[in-house]
Amino acid sequence: MNKELLRKLPKIDELLKLQSVNKLIEENSRTIVLESLREAIEFYRNGILKGNVDSLNTEQVLDFAVHTLESKNKMHLERVINATGTVIHTNLGRSLLGKKAIENVITVAGSYNNLEYDIESGKRGSRYSHIEEIIKKVTGAEAAMVVNNNAAAIMLVLDTLAKEKEVIVSRGELVEIGGSFRIPEVMKFSGAKLVEIGTTNRTHLYDYENNIRENTGVLLKVHTSNFKVLGFTEGVSLEQLVELGEKHEIPVVEDIGSGVLIDFGKYGFTYEPTVQDSIKKGIDVVTFSGDKMLGGPQAGIIVGKKKYMDRMKKNQLTRALRVDKMTLAALEGTLKYYIDEKEAIDNIPSLNMILMPKEEVKKKCILLKRKLQSKTNDFKFYIDKGESMVGGGSMPTEKIETYVVKVTSEKFSPEDMERKLRLGETPLIARVYNDELVLDGRTLFKEDFDEIVQCFKAIE
Ligand SMILES: *Cc1c(COP(=O)(O)O)cnc(C)c1O
Repeated sequence: MNKELLRKLPKIDELLKLQSVNKLIEENSRTIVLESLREAIEFYRNGILKGNVDSLNTEQVLDFAVHTLESKNKMHLERVINATGTVIHTNLGRSLLGKKAIENVITVAGSYNNLEYDIESGKRGSRYSHIEEIIKKVTGAEAAMVVNNNAAAIMLVLDTLAKEKEVIVSRGELVEIGGSFRIPEVMKFSGAKLVEIGTTNRTHLYDYENNIRENTGVLLKVHTSNFKVLGFTEGVSLEQLVELGEKHEIPVVEDIGSGVLIDFGKYGFTYEPTVQDSIKKGIDVVTFSGDKMLGGPQAGIIVGKKKYMDRMKKNQLTRALRVDKMTLAALEGTLKYYIDEKEAIDNIPSLNMILMPKEEVKKKCILLKRKLQSKTNDFKFYIDKGESMVGGGSMPTEKIETYVVKVTSEKFSPEDMERKLRLGETPLIARVYNDELVLDGRTLFKEDFDEIVQCFKAIE
């Protein structure tokens, strides 16, 4: 029996004569097609030897090879559908780019450009010149530059202003931001010495003043973006710190974290400090992320007084921390929207999703539920209220009212559904809450609804 089946296994040479295989080679790399064919033959050979295969034809082997080929062609970094309701989801790529940003990336990536070329003079230019003006315009700062991420920004600032000097920070602000970013550790790398003052819940102006010495390089303020200390608390205001810094001629630096450029207070959220506000209050240097609340690409943006910014631009570290042309293209495309706040909210996906009224989310949920219900058999869907999150360590206490589609099934447990949807052709990432599968309409797009239906049909 086995021998007969083994004889039926097609040989590579025979397969290469088939028209369908030649078509595959035309459309793909020959190496990958050959690899897939070999793996398919090997799979069936092993199956036959183990007694798991009862019948065999060439068609089966080809089907397997095509499947293998498809998975080899698939990118490892791939698109997923975010049904979690967490808008700036750090594990799912943080902020999505707006249209202008995406178009700008495509243009710049596929063509020569003036990255370091001054078209007017025909001479060498600076890669930072393209975005400095627009950053200055939207933040009100005297000067600006961009590095790889906010962690790099803080490192560059401290290395420039406080190498082998002391940096005064409140104990209430020694934050850890997801994974491995800890303010004290970053300082160690930069060669600055950390001077902790005050207590976890209370720090006073005199705590800063009493610790200022000859060798104090920076007064550092860190926005505690991912947690809140409530109750008996006391912090020092930006104005007080600026006054103290001026008196002692020590620069005041603020890591504001998220890079909020619009006043969320106007839209029913608790006020989140904006970059413009810190600049207006006289902070010397402010750093923030490009891909959190700003809604752009991963980047660390540094803004502030020209005399300090000039020193940073000259630091040799900038070469190691510098951003590439695609980041600059995406950032410029994003920042252009901020010239008009309404444009920003309408076109920057992160802002748009965070500020989307719950009635609008409900409409999306109704449409999705209708589609899912009419095209699948094994599930029941109903709409309910829920809570979305901003994410990315931003506004941790802010719960955004939302609407969700809840899914139940007699055939599958919620955990089962969650896993199967996650492992599908286009991974759909959903939450299980109170023994139900939950799809939050806030982070879903209408254009994806047919595909979401396919995700469910595929697991039935
Ligand atoms: C997120 C965050 C960082 C790190 O920013 P990355 O851009 O992820 O490097 C640093 N400080 C604060 C306060 C943050 O919220």
